[in-house]
Amino acid sequence: MDLYCVIGNPVEHSKSPWIHSRFAALMGQSLDYQKLLVSLGEFSQAVDNFRSRGGRGCNITLPFKQEAAALATQRSARVELAQACNTLIFQGDQIVGENTDGLGLVSDIVGNAQTQISKRDVLVIGAGGAAAGILGPLLEQRPKCLWVANRTAHKAAGLVARHASLAHSLGVDCQAFGLSDAALLACNFDVLINASASSLNQDAPPVPGSLLRQGALACDLMYGPSADPFLKWAQSHGASARDGLGMLVEQAAEAFLLWRGIRPPTEIVLRELRALMLAA
Ligand code: NAP
Repeated sequence: MDLYCVIGNPVEHSKSPWIHSRFAALMGQSLDYQKLLVSLGEFSQAVDNFRSRGGRGCNITLPFKQEAAALATQRSARVELAQACNTLIFQGDQIVGENTDGLGLVSDIVGNAQTQISKRDVLVIGAGGAAAGILGPLLEQRPKCLWVANRTAHKAAGLVARHASLAHSLGVDCQAFGLSDAALLACNFDVLINASASSLNQDAPPVPGSLLRQGALACDLMYGPSADPFLKWAQSHGASARDGLGMLVEQAAEAFLLWRGIRPPTEIVLRELRALMLAA
């Protein structure tokens, strides 16, 4: 059986083995997808060991996405921009690095939530690894504006500077803000994406509800019970609320496509996974 894994620390919580097993079953394919808990400082050795066991590819989760980008011998343009990699493909002696997080988010918003990004006003909150992974694919949708607001404003500025050339070539107004900047607070948005870790502590997002236009889509990258305060906050301000479970399934489908050459159906897998998590 073809061997894959997700590498992280912690990794016990990962839903990726379940998702990829369902994809494989639905596509009539046979694969073995494992969880690999790796100690800090041992990432590249763990990848080597996995390859020598016959591994065909792996997903990377916290805190190794940047190390994975550095380890890859071939990096996609998305990885270069994000400086982070969530999918490795082993091809002969090459390690190909891709980042499917942003593609997954865009598929979830445009496909599953049926919400257009093109020509809309979009706000991303946060400037960490997740925000870095989604900015390029969001820009590729050509929103009217893509603003990035972060608690530590200079990190947002750095992220936007890295994407300035892409934004310019696509004609997108891409700017960076601190969370309490007056110019930001005076505006409102069609799509608000919380890529900050505020929900980790089950906090409401660190911005006022006035940033949401009536009928906006508000999406948290977090999923599970921790996303509940964000979802309630969004609904209480007239927005349509979405958690990050769809992004999780869609980014996995993009990885499956890279490894297996075919994109599996996601709607049924997302529905089943949500039911499973609610039951638990
Ligand atoms: P990270 O690299 O540690 O970055 C955290 C970001 O959140 C930083 O911008 C930080 O601001 C900000 N932040 C943290 N606590 C905050 C608070 N209380 N108020 C306001 N801002 C706060 O983490 P990450 O990898 O980007 O992950 C962010 C979120 O995305 C997590 O919830 C993660 O679970 C989720 N995620 C989901 C998926 C998915 O498939 N659904 C994939 C990847 C990530 P400073 O710069 O000021 O510290």
